[in-house]
Amino acid sequence: MKFYVDAMFGNLSRFLRVLGYDCLLRPNTQNTSDFFYKAKEENRIIITRSRVLYYQACKREISSIFINKEGIVNILCDLRRKIKIKLICDPNNSRCSECNGLLVKIEKKLIRNEVNNGTFEHFEEFWKCKSCGKIYWEGSHWIDIRRKVKEVEECVKNEN
Ligand SMILES: [Zn+2]
Repeated sequence: MKFYVDAMFGNLSRFLRVLGYDCLLRPNTQNTSDFFYKAKEENRIIITRSRVLYYQACKREISSIFINKEGIVNILCDLRRKIKIKLICDPNNSRCSECNGLLVKIEKKLIRNEVNNGTFEHFEEFWKCKSCGKIYWEGSHWIDIRRKVKEVEECVKNEN
């Protein structure tokens, strides 16, 4: 399942990448036909807040999801309902939240000068983005991610 999210969904694209999904964020300047072309070419599901864009995509037989919810938890609940998206929290399966690149595990000693002392002392496992080089570890943001995913699971479970 690969995604192409409309320009106003920066938060969502970062979140989906952290959960391991290949997710592109549409640039503000990209015109609709390029957006559709790339989505179709790369077999990506479009996520948009625009009803017009949603219908245009459907007409072109591009998988598309219309979201009118606010807030990451509500949006993920909606995706869970509509396409049964799996929300798996695993840093080993995560992608770069900044650039969508793949992460590879990197030996701790190799990143000595790339993170601050506290982080280096406190964590044992690190990952590096193959594309932009950003270093990741299972820091406090993962607590927040796990909490949000749990909220989504609870909310969807209660509906069934
Ligand atoms: Zn990156």
